[in-house]
Amino acid sequence: MTLINEKFVVHTKGNTEIKDITRQVQNAVYKHSLQNAVVYVYVAGSTVSITNIEYEPGLLKDLPEALDKIAPVVKDYHHDDTWHDGNGYAHVRASIIGNSTMVPLLDGALQLGQWQQIVLIDFDNKARTRTVHVQILY
Ligand code: ZN
Repeated sequence: MTLINEKFVVHTKGNTEIKDITRQVQNAVYKHSLQNAVVYVYVAGSTVSITNIEYEPGLLKDLPEALDKIAPVVKDYHHDDTWHDGNGYAHVRASIIGNSTMVPLLDGALQLGQWQQIVLIDFDNKARTRTVHVQILY
């Protein structure tokens, strides 16, 4: 088994901005011309997530609206009592969604559905710069 480590940087506006990172992941993987591999996509940080979605305007509203019900921005959070950074909602959302995804590479193609994109969602309450790690195991 061999491990390749790739990474790229994503600049976000925060505030539950959803960014399509599919192209960056594809570029990181396809430049190695591999046939079969496990592709692990991970972002470090406790107020940011990586997941999959159909990247279309309706869902880009539906997902934040659903999260607003689970962890509203305007609410008293115990975390904010501790740090007073006003982003308790962001931590809760990031914990629920998670911060990684895995995609199989089979016969040279990442096995994403036609309407399935890889997205980074930055929940923090300010602009951030995030580093996405792509580990390729083959
Ligand atoms: Zn915080």
